[in-house]
Amino acid sequence: MRKKPFFHMVRLLCCLALVCSLIGTELTPALAVTQTEINNLKDDAGDLKKQVKELEKKLDALRDDRSAAMQRKNLLDEKISATSQQITNVEEQIAKYAELIAQSEADLADAEAREEAQYELFCQRVRAMEEQGTVNYWTFLFRAVSFSDLLDRLDAINEIMAYDQGVINDLKTLQTEISEKKAGLETNKADSEAAKAELVSIKSSLNTQRSEANQLIEQIRANEAEYKDTIEDLEAEEERIQAEIVRKSKELAAQLAAQGKDQKSNPGGYIWPVDSRYITSTVGGRTSPGGVGSTNHKGTDIGRVGYTSSIYASKAGTVIVSEYSRSYGHYVVISHGSGNTTLYAHMSKRIATVGQYVNQGTVIGITGSTGNSTGPHLHFEITENGTRINPLSHGAKPQKGYLSGYTLSGTGVSK
Ligand SMILES: [Zn+2]
Repeated sequence: MRKKPFFHMVRLLCCLALVCSLIGTELTPALAVTQTEINNLKDDAGDLKKQVKELEKKLDALRDDRSAAMQRKNLLDEKISATSQQITNVEEQIAKYAELIAQSEADLADAEAREEAQYELFCQRVRAMEEQGTVNYWTFLFRAVSFSDLLDRLDAINEIMAYDQGVINDLKTLQTEISEKKAGLETNKADSEAAKAELVSIKSSLNTQRSEANQLIEQIRANEAEYKDTIEDLEAEEERIQAEIVRKSKELAAQLAAQGKDQKSNPGGYIWPVDSRYITSTVGGRTSPGGVGSTNHKGTDIGRVGYTSSIYASKAGTVIVSEYSRSYGHYVVISHGSGNTTLYAHMSKRIATVGQYVNQGTVIGITGSTGNSTGPHLHFEITENGTRINPLSHGAKPQKGYLSGYTLSGTGVSK
């Protein structure tokens, strides 16, 4: 069939209208999760990577300096924190990719259904054309009885041809859309797989860092004489912290009393701060080998907690300390009244913040091995009337309001 410029124009306009309408639909975001969100996460990931690299540099600088062993531990704790954040970040990326993939798949299924319908329409038109024969257009035109009749007939043919061309264009556009969507989906899947591989590698790096950190403290404890100053420093730090805790709990009680809210010291009434009931070290004793010089352990160590267990407020109160120290690592202190406090040490992550009121059982942190610790455990202290006491129910009669139902490591004694 010979094409006239006029037909070209009609087709062009038709295509244009079609393309415009398609562009219009493309502009409305159909996806709830966008690549932008993932890109933002990737930006954060870049910052974290930089942070880890900087910490590595600092660690290298201290590598052979024995007196700086404790400083290395602090930096390692920081690096472990940053690495844990990287893990959270990559896990978020993977979750977003999963959402994006699910949405893309639904989108693709929809486009394929539309393509099928359009293809059916196309087949119908082809059958109609076959039945009529294209030559009929010309026969139809030649039957015109006047010039105006010819123009009317020309219009009619244009409409039919434009419609047919529209059907074909729609089909082509849909096919392009589908192949683009498929390619996009494949890219998302590949990116998601890459993120999963990265997660595996970061997790293994985290494990390495954790054992390195634990070994560092083991080394210090094993070479007690060599690290005498470091060990004394740590004990002095714990005593400074204890004095500060007593002072702060009194200060808070005075503040509350001034506001007419009497916060009386109310000993007892504690619950287990973790789900584990496995005691590795008790107050006054050191059952763990290579103890830090002192046989006078100030707290209770609860083991078998790993690096991801929740730590609960043993009793309701106000958080008076939430910070990092060389001895306690990440630790939190809650005041339950003047001279009555609980302390939770060696956390991998602190959740409670200073000034926050927590109910009994509120999650205040996650277990870990930060500070002066050779493995994941919770170091738990209770202070009553300004003095550290034994949190475990002991003696012949069970002490109500203190921790019972535990197993002592090594002895196998259960109480
Ligand atoms: Zn301890």
